[in-house]
Amino acid sequence: MTSRRSSTTAGLTRSASHAQETDDSASPAEVSGSSLNHSTKMPPRDDEDSFRCGKCGEMKPRSCFHSWNRGRGFQSYCKDCDRLRNKSRSETARRAWATSEAGKASQRKWQRKAYLASPKKFLAHSAVRYALETDRLVKSPCEICGSRQTEAHHDNYSRPLDVRWLCRRHHADLHTRSRKEDTT
Ligand SMILES: [Zn+2]
Ligand SMILES: [Zn+2]
Ligand SMILES: [Zn+2]
Repeated sequence: MTSRRSSTTAGLTRSASHAQETDDSASPAEVSGSSLNHSTKMPPRDDEDSFRCGKCGEMKPRSCFHSWNRGRGFQSYCKDCDRLRNKSRSETARRAWATSEAGKASQRKWQRKAYLASPKKFLAHSAVRYALETDRLVKSPCEICGSRQTEAHHDNYSRPLDVRWLCRRHHADLHTRSRKEDTT
């Protein structure tokens, strides 16, 4: 059995007030700068249940770090910093791919394939995407369950902006049902 979570909550509450103070006083500029000039100020010593994040420089309990099967057993960046780093990394990678020649070629290929598979459907989806971007169409919650993660469903692709909003599950349900009706 690994250690129970109860020990980590004690560490969290103990450091919560401390973390809040530093959060409020530190501006984003100071936070990003701290990793650069950390050599000028002495890093706080790691004590038993509080560790310094290699990015924001804050002392945080062990529970604020992801486990890592190397070195001291957990990552040097706290979870908050790790999340930000991963987010910016994947966004950068996605943008780089989207603007690269290979990325553009793959997009064109995919669009061509989708268009050839069903021109009306492709054009209807393009129209919805464009209308959403230009605020001529607004996403609504799922008409069955109210979920906010919805997709546009077309009863008729000839009326591209005449859509019903359904969550992924109810959208799939609807298509399964209409397929059955078609075949019977
Ligand atoms: Zn951090
Ligand atoms: Zn739903
Ligand atoms: Zn649909």
